[in-house]
Amino acid sequence: MKYPHTFRSKMPKVETTIFTVMSALAQEHGALNLSQGFPEFDGGERLRKAVNQAMKSGHNHYAPMAGHMPLREAISEKMEDLYSAKYDPEKEITITAGGTEAISSALTAMIREGDEVILFAPAYDCYAPIIELNGGKPVFVELNPGDYSIDWEKVKRVMNYRTRMIIINTPHNPTGSILNAQDIERLAKLLKGTEILVLSDEVYEHILFEGYEHQSVARFPDLAERSFLVYSLGKTYHNTGWRLGYCLAPENLMEEFRKVHQYSVFTCNTPMQHAFTEMISDSSTYSELGAFYQEKRDLFRESIKGSKFKALPCAGTYFQLLDYSKITDESDLEFAKRLTREFKLASIPISVFYPNSIDNKVLRFCFAKESDTLRRAAEILNTVGK
Ligand code: GLN
Repeated sequence: MKYPHTFRSKMPKVETTIFTVMSALAQEHGALNLSQGFPEFDGGERLRKAVNQAMKSGHNHYAPMAGHMPLREAISEKMEDLYSAKYDPEKEITITAGGTEAISSALTAMIREGDEVILFAPAYDCYAPIIELNGGKPVFVELNPGDYSIDWEKVKRVMNYRTRMIIINTPHNPTGSILNAQDIERLAKLLKGTEILVLSDEVYEHILFEGYEHQSVARFPDLAERSFLVYSLGKTYHNTGWRLGYCLAPENLMEEFRKVHQYSVFTCNTPMQHAFTEMISDSSTYSELGAFYQEKRDLFRESIKGSKFKALPCAGTYFQLLDYSKITDESDLEFAKRLTREFKLASIPISVFYPNSIDNKVLRFCFAKESDTLRRAAEILNTVGK
């Protein structure tokens, strides 16, 4: 069926996300899927039981628009414990349909026609389209080649009176780099005296390696007072399909955020919010996550040592970048597709995260997988180009 009239797309440049494309290709070819980022394991018996219990106890109707209050209270306590930050559960915390909704609602609430939003390339793919949908202009600053750090001088150069917001993401998807305290202090200094807002995507807050500390914007009061912070329960509790996350912001920003949230999703599913209240209140449910994933990262890196791929540094997230420039000069998109079709291993090409499709011959592999899967993936990688 086709709509019989012509119309202008509001998002003419947007195509199906690379995550969906590569996962579908993996399925079509029966390939190991290390492309789209999702864990191979689930959140475990305790969480499942808690959800069941909530359903059996009749918590199956609308939660309050901003989320189940005890969950918001538990989040507020967690923010205080981890980052010495005070967020009022009543006015400053909203439960969202995953991190993506939090990002989209914050941008929609704040960005107007002509506003500029600074973001860093490679950038997670949902930021720019939502900025543009709201009439804003994404202004990309390229991360430094090699270590994917931020050159703050470059940021300073693109800042102007139209800049409405800057989006940071640490630990960073797709590169696995992180921001340190000096980065955040530098940002605070740059924004001082301006009205520029911050969107801080911190969905991998617990997945940092080698003892690095997560530098949440919440730790920096001068920045926190102009920031939306985004978190994901799916990333922390291995259930990306449940679509739950949360957003934190000062009261007056959150008030605007909720105006968008209430007319797009209204409220999120109730029984799972009940279950997560119990989990978040117990710090042992997340405190080992970094160590858990570090083991996987190390296993994966170790197992491909004999291959022609070069593993780039990875300080956080569950993504490992591999440079394949010694193997072929095919574009990363072509190579990722061929690896899926011919070698039965799916990954994500990094060029899609650059506005100008810069191709550094790098692919992203998700290592949130069982050891056996990682070993099988490594076996494949060890044969490529030999
Ligand atoms: N965050 C996931 C990733 O980076 C993908 C989420 C999605 O498919 N939209 O792979």
